[in-house]
Amino acid sequence: MVAGNWKMNKTLQEGVALATELKQSVKNPKCAVVIGTPFIHLATVAELLKGTPVKVAAENCADKVSGAYTGEVSAAMVASTGAEYCILGHSERRAYYHETPEILREKVLLALENNLKPIFCIGEVKEEREAGKQNEVVKAQLEGSVFNLSAEQWANITLAYEPVWAIGTGLTATPEQAQEMHAYIRSLIAEKYGNEVADNTTILYGGSCNAKNAAELFANPDVDGGLIGGASLKAPDFLTIIEAR
Ligand code: PEP
Repeated sequence: MVAGNWKMNKTLQEGVALATELKQSVKNPKCAVVIGTPFIHLATVAELLKGTPVKVAAENCADKVSGAYTGEVSAAMVASTGAEYCILGHSERRAYYHETPEILREKVLLALENNLKPIFCIGEVKEEREAGKQNEVVKAQLEGSVFNLSAEQWANITLAYEPVWAIGTGLTATPEQAQEMHAYIRSLIAEKYGNEVADNTTILYGGSCNAKNAAELFANPDVDGGLIGGASLKAPDFLTIIEAR
């Protein structure tokens, strides 16, 4: 899978223009293609891309079912737009909006209950990597928010390993660092759900992945694609990354 994460970029009109470019260019991709857009784009972009290989994701959903939560958008509302995926646990949401493992566990469950497929992000910050704690951080993130799921629920989960020190910084993890962590994550899934489930789990790499370095990252056996921030905002770059998978 190659998934874009537009973050808080693009007006509705700009988003429609970018989605239109992708619609015209992505015809027979060799992998699943998803774009994560702001909430306000979802309904329009999902309609525009209906019947094409490009699927749509929200970048978040509420941790509550419905009711008096001003400004929030529920998983049911996201699903009603035609979006099929929901990015959850992004490091920006964890850091700036104080999303805890418990809150994320609720969000994942609500997404699944509403037939949305979570793209669940995990990854360590720079200090944790420097202290050699990346494996324990990532394991705790999985245990805290998604290892409560049944194997049946797990089948709808995509993981994205995103070292926080690599997001938007231009500091990409080396292919070796990415492979090492992805293999570790897969081993944790195998311990919990068995080898077959682990082999079938899509684990994306995210963090300054771009048109130049994508092929090298995707060449690793445990790197099943990418979650792409900045480079998903320009159609030619995003298309090159899709080709690289
Ligand atoms: C992201 O935010 O998910 C991301 C990977 O961003 P960037 O590609 O810009 O580093």
